[in-house]
Amino acid sequence: MSVEIYDTTLRDGSQQVGLDLTVTDKLRVATALDALGVDVIEGGWPGSNPKDAEFFARAKDLPWQHAMMAAFGATRRPNRPADDDADLRTLLDAGTPIVTLVGKSWTLHVDEALRTSRAENLAMVADSVRFFRREGRRVVFDAEHFFDGYAADQGYALAVLVAAAESGADTLALCDTNGGTLPDDITSIVRAVTAAFPAVRLGVHCHNDSACAVANSLVAVGAGATHVQGAANGYGERCGNADLFAIVAGLELKRDHQLLPPGRLGSLAVTARQIAEIANLPFEPRQPYVGSSAFATKAGLHASAIARRPDAYSHVDPASVGNRAHVLVSELAGRSNVLAKAAELGLDLSGETAAAVLDEVKAAEHRGYAFEAADASFELLVRRVAGTSPSWFELEGYRVVIEKSEVGDQRVVAVGEGVGPVHAIDEALRKALAELYPELASIHLVDYKVRILDGRAATKAVTRVMLTSADHDGEWTTVGVSDDIVTASWEALAEGISYGLLRARARALVPAVA
Ligand SMILES: [Zn+2]
Repeated sequence: MSVEIYDTTLRDGSQQVGLDLTVTDKLRVATALDALGVDVIEGGWPGSNPKDAEFFARAKDLPWQHAMMAAFGATRRPNRPADDDADLRTLLDAGTPIVTLVGKSWTLHVDEALRTSRAENLAMVADSVRFFRREGRRVVFDAEHFFDGYAADQGYALAVLVAAAESGADTLALCDTNGGTLPDDITSIVRAVTAAFPAVRLGVHCHNDSACAVANSLVAVGAGATHVQGAANGYGERCGNADLFAIVAGLELKRDHQLLPPGRLGSLAVTARQIAEIANLPFEPRQPYVGSSAFATKAGLHASAIARRPDAYSHVDPASVGNRAHVLVSELAGRSNVLAKAAELGLDLSGETAAAVLDEVKAAEHRGYAFEAADASFELLVRRVAGTSPSWFELEGYRVVIEKSEVGDQRVVAVGEGVGPVHAIDEALRKALAELYPELASIHLVDYKVRILDGRAATKAVTRVMLTSADHDGEWTTVGVSDDIVTASWEALAEGISYGLLRARARALVPAVA
């Protein structure tokens, strides 16, 4: 049986603090996951909020390429027939081919949370599964708190699974709802349960409270599970759900499972970034496989070795997941590091230019600049030294609400108003340049970080601004340093825009004159 990938970003994942998706956002996330090739997309809990009901109504008419939709809900209420349960009706009305029912499998929760008899809980599971089977729906049964329940009362936890399977659930997902189970216990329990239920698809749903969600999912598959639930980028409440992307990459690249349609693994990184963007959450650079630093090496003395044999310094080929390797530029690095970095950017430097770049980098880092995370500023620096830097505009100066720029042979004075001085400058700069450079409309700020550096490297405290900008197919970071925050921000903003224009006009270095 091949391993089925079940995504719960839109239901469990969206429990994350700060993650708030509109119905349109949810449809965009689902579209991205479908394009990636996940098998099942759990769209939400229609009984819990009208937004999720609307999602399913709109999702019905969309042309999904690969994924099947699942709607999520709980088993019927105690002491009431399934037919009279309004929540089950709402779940049915979502019209999805798959219904995922969550039920209690830990006696503590039956006794204390549900406050009903253990026999009644078994009946609730059986009746609810039968209700949806009669309507021709495929039923996935999520056994909530299964691993804790199994530890507390193995016989009862298994009886819950029997009730679901005998009533027609074709998939039993064992949930580590509190996220506290460790991989060795997952392995032994999944192995035992798989042996006890040879006729059904067995899966896991892991949370990351012990930092083991991905590991637990991987060992579960090793122990016989053929259904894995997870969320994009590991989103989820508390410490998150299992990161679906790391699971997929691990199983495909290291365990020879084919989970996505052939060729799709290469779009993993872009999908991860796209979803972070829709979710309006900063994309974690250290995220395994897909993060911008996942294959970044602060090279130092090893730079030339990395340039020669990149495979010696990374666990998989970054291209296999659509990522790329980076060599980080640092004060400690030598000329070979600068050359390797320049080659990565597609710039062929002479030894003399590389030495000049290195001098500039060292001087700038002494003043408080940091290029390790500011690739775009590094590239602009290299281009300036090498004399290949297009000049989009020159900044003449600014006042906090008024900014002047020199654009080509035109002189532009623009006024911006924003929620703060930095926003105001961004607005003003955009206004000043909008006519000449319409591409600016697709460039936006995604992150802005300020640090005050003490006098360790510089003679007095300075402010360093790191600013991340993005367009439709990527993002880049620039850096500005000054003894005041506005000037530092101004520099980072101007470089961010210059670099964005460089990307946009990579093939036409001469700007069209308006
Ligand atoms: Zn969960």
